Amino acid sequence: MTPKSNVKQLECIRENYCIGCGVCTTTNNTTIYLDEYGKYSVVMQSNMESEAEKVLQLCPFSSLSENEDTLSKLLFASDSLKYFDSIGYFLNNYIGHVRADEMRLNSSSGGIITWLLKTLLQKGDITQAVHVAPSNTDSLLFEYTFSNDEDSIIAGASSRYYPVELSFVLDYIKKYAGKYAIVALPCFAKGLRLLQQHDKVFKQRIEYLISPICGHLKSKHYASFLAWQKGILPNQLKSINFRKKLEYKRASQYGTEFFFDSKGTEDNTTVENSTFKMGTDWGHGMFKYPACDYCDDVVGELADISVGDAWLQEYIDDYKGNSLIIVRNHYLNRILTESQRQNNLEMKEVSPELVEKSQAGGFRNKRSDLRYRLWLKNKNGEWYPPKRVSAAKTALNRKRRKIIKMRLKINDYSHRLFKDCLKKDDLSLFYDQMTPVLDRYFLLNHGVYRFLKRKLKKFYENRNTNISLWL
Ligand SMILES: Cc1cc2nc3c(=O)[nH]c(=O)nc-3n(C[C@H](O)[C@H](O)[C@H](O)COP(=O)(O)OP(=O)(O)OC[C@H]3O[C@@H](n4cnc5c(N)ncnc54)[C@H](O)[C@@H]3O)c2cc1C
Repeated sequence: MTPKSNVKQLECIRENYCIGCGVCTTTNNTTIYLDEYGKYSVVMQSNMESEAEKVLQLCPFSSLSENEDTLSKLLFASDSLKYFDSIGYFLNNYIGHVRADEMRLNSSSGGIITWLLKTLLQKGDITQAVHVAPSNTDSLLFEYTFSNDEDSIIAGASSRYYPVELSFVLDYIKKYAGKYAIVALPCFAKGLRLLQQHDKVFKQRIEYLISPICGHLKSKHYASFLAWQKGILPNQLKSINFRKKLEYKRASQYGTEFFFDSKGTEDNTTVENSTFKMGTDWGHGMFKYPACDYCDDVVGELADISVGDAWLQEYIDDYKGNSLIIVRNHYLNRILTESQRQNNLEMKEVSPELVEKSQAGGFRNKRSDLRYRLWLKNKNGEWYPPKRVSAAKTALNRKRRKIIKMRLKINDYSHRLFKDCLKKDDLSLFYDQMTPVLDRYFLLNHGVYRFLKRKLKKFYENRNTNISLWL
């Protein structure tokens, strides 16, 4: 099962577990490219075992890199932080938002990351913020960018469910001295921490790592699929706001805003996420990087601060959004509490148990469901990167196991079907083949009665159109 050589392990990672972070390009042995499924992946430049070893030591999904427990202990254990199993080390946890309404409304949840980057820059604690913003190239909607002024930080607010990679960012940081804060998903943050262990320059220059809490990352085709469903062809799509806040809805019922080219002029439209036929149910996991199914870090345990959505009953009614904040750095904690006193932030301290509750779905998927996915890998004689949970079948009941299997299938179908749709210029292929799978998934989850009720409702909604009963 374990790959026979480092080169073979790298090949296996490239095929199944590469998240395309780009950290390994710092070894000069790899390059990053966007594959045919719209995901970043790695290419090796040489076949030498010793070179492959260097790459694997920096890879968040390899057997030669330390895991989150070991790395977080090195980073935080001596800093009088507390520990809670699911969220790792923490100093304090909060739920809150920025008081400046405009910043909050343009952000994903409470605007905390944008506010923090802006504050660190203002105070001179960093020289550049490294985060994800609209791209200047035609072929990409978003990419990592360097911001050294407030406007640029604000322009990069909001969550981009879109592939990004760090290779050029790391080239730049290596070349140019500075004090950088990087916003990095948990697996990217792991790659960066591994890099900091191997290369002092990155340890000195990367001052802060900020992690968005993460369910999973989407391929480039996710944005195209949503747009195409609304009649916007992939090549017409110019930008997308995945987290458009809707005044009359709950925080969790956000919309999607499309910016597109319509007969030579720029147009835009916002749609409620519930109106998409498919794709916006995160449980389905369409267009998810397969690597995300083999990640066990929900909150970004290696970051100085992690920020997510406060998915809790008492906050969800406020459409403007609230952030869940896990702080692991004393200085950042001071900035937050001082700003609360100065009325720039509205914040309340919360227990780690409440943090866990707010991310219940994420923990179920990345911890207990993961055990079954690992068991399936064992059963098929396939290698997987070492995880902090063990493979198990009976830890989950039969129904849950079926759900997990169906999710794997939906994910796999989504990548392959959409590639075909692009080739044949026909989106109906996706609907035709995905609908029966989604029907079976719904039946399994909710039973026959709710299934038929839902079908009839759709039938009546669509009876004046030629849309099939089974969509
Ligand atoms: C792929 C992805 C999956 C997520 N999954 C979950 C989840 O399951 N549960 C949950 O609670 N929260 C999740 N989040 C985090 C959540 O969407 C918000 O980012 C978080 O609540 C911070 O909100 P904010 O208002 O403080 O941030 P904002 O003020 O809106 O700032 C967001 C910052 O993140 C940067 N950014 C955007 N996209 C990326 C990216 N792909 N990689 C790195 N940086 C990026 C932006 O440039 C900006 O600086 C996810 C985010 C992403 C990008």
